[in-house]
Amino acid sequence: MFPLTSSYNFIKRSVVGQCAFQKTKFFIQHFKFQQSTFSSTNRGNFKTATSKDVDFFLSLLGKSRTIQDVDELKVHNTDWLKSHQGKSPLVLRPKTTEEISEILQYCNKEKLAVCPQGGNTGLVGGSIPIYDEIVLSMNLMNEILHFDENTGVLQCQSGCILESLESYANEKNFTVPVDLGAKGSCQIGGNLSTNAGGLRFVKYGSLHGNVLGLKAVCANGEILDCMNTMRKNNTGYDLKHMFIGSEGTLGIITEAAILCYPKSSQTAVAFLGCNTFEQVLKTAQIVRRQLPELLSSLEMLDNEAADTLRDNLKLTVPISKHPFYVLVEISGSDSEYNEKKLNECLNLLMEENHISDGTIATDSTRMKALWSVRERITEALLHEGCGYKYDISLPLKHFYNLVKVMRRRLGTKVTRCVGYGHLGDGNVHFNATTKEFDLEVLNLIEPFIYEWTVQRKGSISAEHGIGYKKTKYLCLNQTDAAIGLMKSLKRLMDPNGILNPYKVLP
Ligand SMILES: Cc1cc2nc3c(=O)[nH]c(=O)nc-3n(C[C@H](O)[C@H](O)[C@H](O)COP(=O)(O)OP(=O)(O)OC[C@H]3O[C@@H](n4cnc5c(N)ncnc54)[C@H](O)[C@@H]3O)c2cc1C
Repeated sequence: MFPLTSSYNFIKRSVVGQCAFQKTKFFIQHFKFQQSTFSSTNRGNFKTATSKDVDFFLSLLGKSRTIQDVDELKVHNTDWLKSHQGKSPLVLRPKTTEEISEILQYCNKEKLAVCPQGGNTGLVGGSIPIYDEIVLSMNLMNEILHFDENTGVLQCQSGCILESLESYANEKNFTVPVDLGAKGSCQIGGNLSTNAGGLRFVKYGSLHGNVLGLKAVCANGEILDCMNTMRKNNTGYDLKHMFIGSEGTLGIITEAAILCYPKSSQTAVAFLGCNTFEQVLKTAQIVRRQLPELLSSLEMLDNEAADTLRDNLKLTVPISKHPFYVLVEISGSDSEYNEKKLNECLNLLMEENHISDGTIATDSTRMKALWSVRERITEALLHEGCGYKYDISLPLKHFYNLVKVMRRRLGTKVTRCVGYGHLGDGNVHFNATTKEFDLEVLNLIEPFIYEWTVQRKGSISAEHGIGYKKTKYLCLNQTDAAIGLMKSLKRLMDPNGILNPYKVLP
């Protein structure tokens, strides 16, 4: 038995038992911009904002919310990965749905393109202007509107930071159904617009299922009130789903009603070491079977990811070196029951020789420390120079083969080939790095990685979206008929194409 009362390390000492692609020029270059090689798209036929347009926004929002300061503009023109710098001359900061309505009405009439921006933590170039689109920053739309303690339904403006919503819900003994490494900066509106997956997907499922209603502003300024707080509401087409995952191309989400869940009072995190990926799969299978009512997260990282954390952030894994690490989080209401179930599960994993080292944490500081190993990989990779970042869904039997195949393919041309991700829902993040951008490496990765994925019935974008970076590959996962319908929908809802142009659709 492994006592669960506090953090406890255990070590197993004995074994018991169809498209034509142009190579994309969009790449990730950290700390240095290579703008000239960024874009292969021509600027759309939009108007360039004039002083008359600026005067209109000044009269609507005032000086403090009509940003033209060069330093501030730079922040909003640059994505989290520092892979692109747009040229927007103007950032608008509305506070209400009605202000957004007036802004879009004006932009639509004047054919001014708009880039909606939440916390700007997106990883596919969706949240930054490609040319001179006006940035519509949601930063000031950050009010919590209502919380129903009977149902757990939280209504808020879309610019609320995810972590603030979680803290608010926690005070009421509830938890929000989405959690991700960028929680301190990303906004619920951005989460909805990307249909973010994250670390609790295995327990609570997709945001499509956890958002009961929302308010959005259409391209022509019309306010579409799809707010609803009922769990059940089968009245015609469920229009809110058009805005979830459409990355700001169909409308601006301004308010949402999120279903929160009672917060589990007892949580434990186990960090386990496996020697082979087959053991990882077996561990995942047993954890799912043994802890079905408790499992709240099931994540993995490989040793190369651990090395990147150690080298770049001085963050070490809490157990002995292994080729693979699995992080299991359980949450429930009874610590004795949790302890019993987790111990039984870990005993079984040890006895059957699927894990050979591990540590358990039940106090919040230790649990946070274990989580930071998984959550800070993206940040650690930033320090490597140039990164090539992929977010792939695969059937579990192929999950890590992707990394192995890419490692063989790229050989010594790259400095790192890292695999980590959401094991519980088949979402692997493959990352390669080089010191400087290398077109040969990019051409070795794309479109190969996408074709390989699709041949195995996977998805080329599991949770980050299509954004600007992957538009030309959309056809690999979607049929011509589906893309045709998406384009018709876009034309219908945004005939002038002003909302987040160059994103999602090829
Ligand atoms: C360290 C790190 C970890 C991450 N982990 C995960 C993860 O586990 N799972 C995951 O899914 N993603 C993850 N991401 C990616 C990113 O955090 C998510 O995509 C997140 O949902 C983006 O939210 P945001 O507020 O930053 O949106 P932004 O990046 O600002 O925007 C994302 C897209 O949504 C649009 N948008 C933003 N707000 C609105 C709005 N109110 N109305 C309409 N459109 C809008 C933008 O135009 C853009 O197309 C991670 C990123 C980082 C940096």
